[in-house]
Amino acid sequence: MTIEQIINKVKENDPKADIDILKLAYDFASKAHKGQLRKTGESYLQHSLHTSFILAQMKSDLNTIVAGLLHDVPEDTEYTIKDIEKNFGTLVAELVEGVTKLSKIKYRGIERYVESLRKMILAMAGDLRVILIKFADRLHNLRTLEALSPDKQQRIAKESLEIYAPIAGLLGIWRLRWQMEDICFKYLYPEDYKKIEYKYEVEKKVERTQYINKVRNVLDKKLNEAGIKHEITGRFKHLYSIYKKMQDKGKRFDEIFDVFALRIIVNDIADCYKTLGIIHAAWRPKSERFKDYIAIPKPNGYRSLHTTVFGPNNKSTEFQIRTKEMNEEALYGIAAYWRYKMEPGEKNKKNYKQPRWIKEILDLQRQAENTYDFINQAKFDIFRDRIFVFTPKGDVYDLPEDATPIDFAYAVHTDIGNQCIGVIINDKMSALDTKLNNGDLVEIIIDKKRKGPNNDWLKFVKTQKTRGKIKQYANKSRLENLKRFIPKLPHK
Ligand code: MN
Repeated sequence: MTIEQIINKVKENDPKADIDILKLAYDFASKAHKGQLRKTGESYLQHSLHTSFILAQMKSDLNTIVAGLLHDVPEDTEYTIKDIEKNFGTLVAELVEGVTKLSKIKYRGIERYVESLRKMILAMAGDLRVILIKFADRLHNLRTLEALSPDKQQRIAKESLEIYAPIAGLLGIWRLRWQMEDICFKYLYPEDYKKIEYKYEVEKKVERTQYINKVRNVLDKKLNEAGIKHEITGRFKHLYSIYKKMQDKGKRFDEIFDVFALRIIVNDIADCYKTLGIIHAAWRPKSERFKDYIAIPKPNGYRSLHTTVFGPNNKSTEFQIRTKEMNEEALYGIAAYWRYKMEPGEKNKKNYKQPRWIKEILDLQRQAENTYDFINQAKFDIFRDRIFVFTPKGDVYDLPEDATPIDFAYAVHTDIGNQCIGVIINDKMSALDTKLNNGDLVEIIIDKKRKGPNNDWLKFVKTQKTRGKIKQYANKSRLENLKRFIPKLPHK
């Protein structure tokens, strides 16, 4: 890897970028790491360059890419944060310091695990770019895992799969998540990995390529006739998701891998819908598989049209239709955020909007009695798949899988939770312990005269937040009851 490659990548994303600062950072890093080698035998500087390149690929902003080059300087060389601040300014120095703090975790076993999760979450509350640098650093470390002892390989792969990858997903950086997962998969379950890789790369490859080309030819023609500029691609390879589906659903490879998937990138939103119309006219859609995430984006901001049709030979074929901007947001998530969502003069400020789940995690931390409680609950709440549930007004709430109407009610408002007496799910009266599904329309029935929650709800509610609210109410009323029994002392 060379600095020129990074400069080219940066220019590709932003032709006007100030590349002098990149060259300066490169000179600084090569001086600082001079003579240092990694376990792989390459120079240490290679690690800094790769980390920085991954950040450029993720379309991070320039400060982050510069900080990527410098991220191991304070930890591993005689230069300090102060030196970095003097040469590259406060923001770059803060980013590097954040990364340095994150990597100072020297615990072992479960403690290390718990601590690293806690520190990541705290760092997220600060500047999310610190996490991005840590992710890029980790991805390169995973790519060079070969050089470490089997013991360390297992530990790092496990930690990455259980902590880093899910957080990358939550931040919407899907590409990074998939890359990490496939490397970890290879180290943690080598036999399964080999089997699936063989099926995917060898057995199914010809069939897949032929089929996708066939669909592509038909569509190219129709879209060109309609004057729609477009780009059709297959999806990224992601072996771990195939493996997980096989595990979760107890199915064979062929049963999982029966859906072909294509992505169509067009110029604007109008073309997204026109393209959808053309696809539906060409092949019969499976009505239940159509999702309009452009009109109603997911709470993490994801936008795209999804549809599955009976394609050629009646094979299920899934399409994702989106604009270039939506595609970059979907692949790079929060990383691409600074490029699209910030005004030119604003690039150095930290006033980006945090996803709602980050706020939830911070609330959770305030409520928890100790770190272990917090970690266990956070793992439960955020590392499971989220579902998206709608209010009758069309507001969207994201909840953990298996959440109940009570969890939903408290997510909307504490009073709604406290006064909840019933629920209508998709126009049907339902029980309060019903498990909600993705896309459910949920209407909570309240009784304003109702004093508070039912303690029995604790038996089935799913989120810590709900549990906390119900207990809070119970404690408060116990205290009030108690007060009634304390005799008033006469004044002296
Ligand atoms: Mn590093």
